[in-house]
Amino acid sequence: MSATSASQALRLPSIDSLLRHPACQALAERYGRDALLAGLRQLLDDLREPVLKGELNAVEIAPDVLAGRAGERLAIQHRSQVRRVLNLTGTVLHTNLGRALLPESAIEAVQLAARYPLNLEFDLRSGKRGDRDDLIEGLIRELTGAEAVTVVNNNAAAVLLTLNSLGARKEGIISRGELIEIGGAFRIPDIMARAGVKLHEVGTTNRTHARDYEAAIGPRSGLVMRVHASNYTIEGFTARVPTAELAELAHRHGLPLLEDLGSGSLLDLTRWGLPAEPTVRQALLDGADIVTFSGDKLLGGPQAGLIVGRKDLIAKIKKNPLKRALRVDKLTLAALEAVLALYRDPDRLAERLPSLRLLTRPQADIFAQAERLQPSLAQVLGDGWSVSAVPALGMIGSGSQPVARLPGAALCLRPNVSKRLRGRRLLGLEAAFRRLPIPVLGRIDGDALWLDLRQLDDEAAWMAQLDQLAQFDQLQEEGRDG
Ligand SMILES: *Cc1c(COP(=O)(O)O)cnc(C)c1O
Repeated sequence: MSATSASQALRLPSIDSLLRHPACQALAERYGRDALLAGLRQLLDDLREPVLKGELNAVEIAPDVLAGRAGERLAIQHRSQVRRVLNLTGTVLHTNLGRALLPESAIEAVQLAARYPLNLEFDLRSGKRGDRDDLIEGLIRELTGAEAVTVVNNNAAAVLLTLNSLGARKEGIISRGELIEIGGAFRIPDIMARAGVKLHEVGTTNRTHARDYEAAIGPRSGLVMRVHASNYTIEGFTARVPTAELAELAHRHGLPLLEDLGSGSLLDLTRWGLPAEPTVRQALLDGADIVTFSGDKLLGGPQAGLIVGRKDLIAKIKKNPLKRALRVDKLTLAALEAVLALYRDPDRLAERLPSLRLLTRPQADIFAQAERLQPSLAQVLGDGWSVSAVPALGMIGSGSQPVARLPGAALCLRPNVSKRLRGRRLLGLEAAFRRLPIPVLGRIDGDALWLDLRQLDDEAAWMAQLDQLAQFDQLQEEGRDG
């Protein structure tokens, strides 16, 4: 291409000539001719004015440069909306980030279920129609001691379906201390109303006694409900009827006791040094007739709601037409079975189940990692920031044990600027981390951005994109006046 003097007007290449360019042919191969054509048209439209105004030189509008720019735009437009992120928030079971990560065996099971036909509702022994719940019923019974089980889309659905199946048009008796909001507008009183159960609240926020339940039971009563107040704690002057006593009371009046455990654990977590969480088995032993819990909280599996307990009640729940609307898909069931199978060997569970492995990662490990990563990050961020490896407290998340803290370690990033500028700097850096190819999500607390390393397994992914952090404009600007 000849050099262009100021007197000669620059001309953008034609669409046709661009389409013949080898780089564009590769793009057409990748994204399709229509997408490429639309992309090139848009690019040329955007450049027309700057070219007329003489703002661009010949090199900047050379065909291979334009092909490169079109390629960058197409890559962004065609990037999947579902993106992997690095969760350095310090919250392990983060609802907004997809909660539990699946173990390899579950990932393989999902692939198998995705790729091939399977016996989802087909009994291979009899050759007759089967029930999808049968695929995990044996395991659940073994692990919890329950008589029967059914699985739905999530625990919210499990609560809704159970209430509607067992208590519609009747009263549900529940303590005022358990009328909780889970988040995302899931509130026990609302869910009861939607399920057609009339709320009969008893006791007070901090204290509810057996006599409160006793006084509430009457001809319109349909069930007694207990909700594990998983996301807040009541301390001080409190009283709560133990599950065993509440079950005995309900049964004396011929009513079932439902217990929504929320997270619900299959094993005693104190064995791994984690805070005690009620187990499903214990709730059933105490006499709860139906127990509901999530698949992707402490259980460490896929999103699901498990309903376990008395056979006759489960049968009633399964007959509810809502069950069909709330049922789980084959991928979930495949993953769930694989996760449950790991619980057969508790000794190796913390090695194999990612959520438990992350929850139990020793602080010394995490701190050593923070010290290892500190120098390279400090170098990339430059003089404008002080970067230190510090002890930090994480959380289980998903409403489990809201006051419990997991001792770990973090990289703590503080801008070296006057107090007045600090907030903006922090937001700028936080946004820069979010715009990385694998977005890094930390947490701003006080005058620092904290990157909790408990969940940074993939150090290679972290290192591979570290350099790109320096390219962000706001960081460079911050480096200048920092
Ligand atoms: C989390 C939770 C739910 C909702 O469970 P999802 O699986 O998120 O639908 C219901 N009840 C309690 C007590 C919970 O903690």
